[in-house]
Amino acid sequence: MNRPLKDKEMFILDMDGTFYLDNTPVEGALGFIEFLKSKNKGFLFFTNNSSKSITDYVLKLRNMGVAVDDDDIFSSGAVAIDFINKNRKGKSVYVIGTKSLSDSFADAGIALDDSNPGIVLLGFDTTLTYEKIYKGCTFIRNGAEFIATHPDSNCPVEGGLMPDTGSMIKMFTESTGVEPLVMGKPHVHTVEALEAKTGVGRGGMVFVGDRLQTDIAIGVNNGAASVLVMTGATSPKMLIESKIKPSFTVPSISYIKDLI
Ligand SMILES: [Mg+2]
Repeated sequence: MNRPLKDKEMFILDMDGTFYLDNTPVEGALGFIEFLKSKNKGFLFFTNNSSKSITDYVLKLRNMGVAVDDDDIFSSGAVAIDFINKNRKGKSVYVIGTKSLSDSFADAGIALDDSNPGIVLLGFDTTLTYEKIYKGCTFIRNGAEFIATHPDSNCPVEGGLMPDTGSMIKMFTESTGVEPLVMGKPHVHTVEALEAKTGVGRGGMVFVGDRLQTDIAIGVNNGAASVLVMTGATSPKMLIESKIKPSFTVPSISYIKDLI
């Protein structure tokens, strides 16, 4: 049997819509982790959702029975921190995000600033207020750099969709005329941060996810393999009509072991 992913070293796994739906693991998801371990393959959970901290995800996955620690999880918020620490060292940041997100910036040694920041960082802020919007737009208009954690317009939840960072970006851009630098999938900043974290080059990586514009595009745009799962955001019709084509498509995460 042909196993086209047998030589890949590192599987970057999306969470929402790929590994679990809300608080329930997709059937076979836990078994897939055990399979990767048995084959000595690396894995890392990666989510564009910047509303929760790494610790929040550790607890969520442990509650599902997955043995993980902080090192097994990475998010668009962590990519933004990595990017700022490497490329914008010393700049202060106004974080428009949840307390989890701003705490993670402070913990990484980045100065938080709500009076004259060098950077306005927009995350998936489920605690967004008019005051934050007003302040953020004013700082950007006065010359602060605009960075956003990820481009997703909506976040899938049980029973529907929550407006996500991509939708918030539109409001800030409409007011200021400034487009942000966007971290997270599908952008190259995420690939660079993942290479630095895992020590595996993009040629050895496989991106697994349910969303064409982020999970799959990051592979297609950056020379890494990609596997689309049909348990989340993408319908068969969307796949047929999209220009973004995954390396492989499977019904769910548990089928990927047939490729390894
Ligand atoms: Mg997803």
